Amino acid sequence: AMSASDEVQKAADAAKTVGDGSAPTIFDKIVSGEIPSNKIHDDDLCIAFRDVNPQAPVHFLVIPKNRDGLTQLSKAREDQKALLGHLMYVAQELGQKECPGGFRIVINDGKDGAQSVYHLHLHVMGGRSMQWPPG
Ligand code: AMP
Repeated sequence: AMSASDEVQKAADAAKTVGDGSAPTIFDKIVSGEIPSNKIHDDDLCIAFRDVNPQAPVHFLVIPKNRDGLTQLSKAREDQKALLGHLMYVAQELGQKECPGGFRIVINDGKDGAQSVYHLHLHVMGGRSMQWPPG
């Protein structure tokens, strides 16, 4: 497993190469099926799939199918509010189902947020007692 500092380095490298956000991301390839994933939800607007490097017994990601400029949360436009609400609604529905005792939703934004994939995604983690504060 990768260490916490590996994750932070990966995030710093990713921030340097994000460009204008037009290049397909690894998550676009998961949406198209070009790259396999362990999918747990699929609707018109989003999918959810298990994280390959889980940080908790339950750890999945909810992503918009059409990234449309949403490389990161801080690029959100006013006309994307309904999509953002949908992603959060789906995240809590799946979170409740998989983690009846509670769960945590995280969005990493930009270099200092330790974001490594520039395609908006909500992390949903649970299945254990989460700690606070996060690192
Ligand atoms: P972030 O650091 O918030 O950008 O999170 C990116 C997440 O995507 C990390 O938790 C990775 O483990 C996860 N990830 C990267 N590639 C894949 C993949 N092919 N399938 C599932 N999860 C992935």
